[in-house]
Amino acid sequence: MTGPEEGSRGRDGDRGRDEEPGADPAPGGRVVLVTGGSRGIGLACAKWFLARGDRVAVTSRTGAVEDRLDAGTDRFMSLKCDVTEPEQVTAAFSAIEEAWGPVEVLVANAGITRDTLVLRMSEEAWSEVIDTNLTAVFRVAKRALTKMIRLHRGRVIMISSVSAFIGSAGQANYAASKAGLVGMARSMAREVASRSITVNVVAPGLVETNMLAALGEVRMSEIRAQVPLGRVARAEEVAEAVGFLASAGAGYVTGVVLPVDGGLAMGL
Ligand code: NDP
Repeated sequence: MTGPEEGSRGRDGDRGRDEEPGADPAPGGRVVLVTGGSRGIGLACAKWFLARGDRVAVTSRTGAVEDRLDAGTDRFMSLKCDVTEPEQVTAAFSAIEEAWGPVEVLVANAGITRDTLVLRMSEEAWSEVIDTNLTAVFRVAKRALTKMIRLHRGRVIMISSVSAFIGSAGQANYAASKAGLVGMARSMAREVASRSITVNVVAPGLVETNMLAALGEVRMSEIRAQVPLGRVARAEEVAEAVGFLASAGAGYVTGVVLPVDGGLAMGL
């Protein structure tokens, strides 16, 4: 891997090594990519970064964003990109880079569930979840890191789940994918640390989104009863944790798992 000359500016508007790690972004804000940013946690993250002046691209399979948020500003774009399709990921990064330059903050958030008990779980349900929640995160992170390495700066934040640590009946595929993110993130964190790039994981517990609505009220109240804080999270509360890991103040934080779970997996 080669980077720009010491103190020089490389291609794509890269900044040199003399810049402080985590230093303030160029005017116009940092370039942020949130996968799965059309609704739920991803959309809350997009709003968090937009509110702080960053330029934010979100992706989803439909390309349609739930809210009309800031459509029309030149700091927001929504791209149709299925993260399980390598050529769509390549096209999305090209579109962002052409408009704004390299991605400086990646929030790998897109995720799905295909819940069923393990004895009923088809290989297809297994693979679909692993492909989306784990392999696609490898794909987008690898692509983002290619440019971050030349910038000597960058933040990668992967959205895991409390299920990775406590398991969840009916979610063997999902829990495996989310646990896999932790080992992947920590390996990547070690590989890119010398370039002042951090790679971290946020592990939400129960968050009020479409994904949770699928659980049903009975299961929801069972789970809620186990949460020390006694409630589910708002997507905005997860966005705050993501925002912290992307901030200059978190420049010395890498390879961590930050639970946002109301204490559900405390100590694990
Ligand atoms: P939602 O279902 O509300 O949103 C998921 C997002 O991912 C949507 O934007 C969806 O858009 C997108 N997406 C799904 N598959 C793909 C794909 N193949 N390519 C591109 N985009 C895709 O989920 P949440 O907001 O609840 O979840 C976000 C993340 O947080 C997930 O990784 C989830 O596992 C994790 N999480 C959620 C918890 C919760 O309680 N809600 C708890 C712990 C973790 P579209 O369908 O248009 O593609």
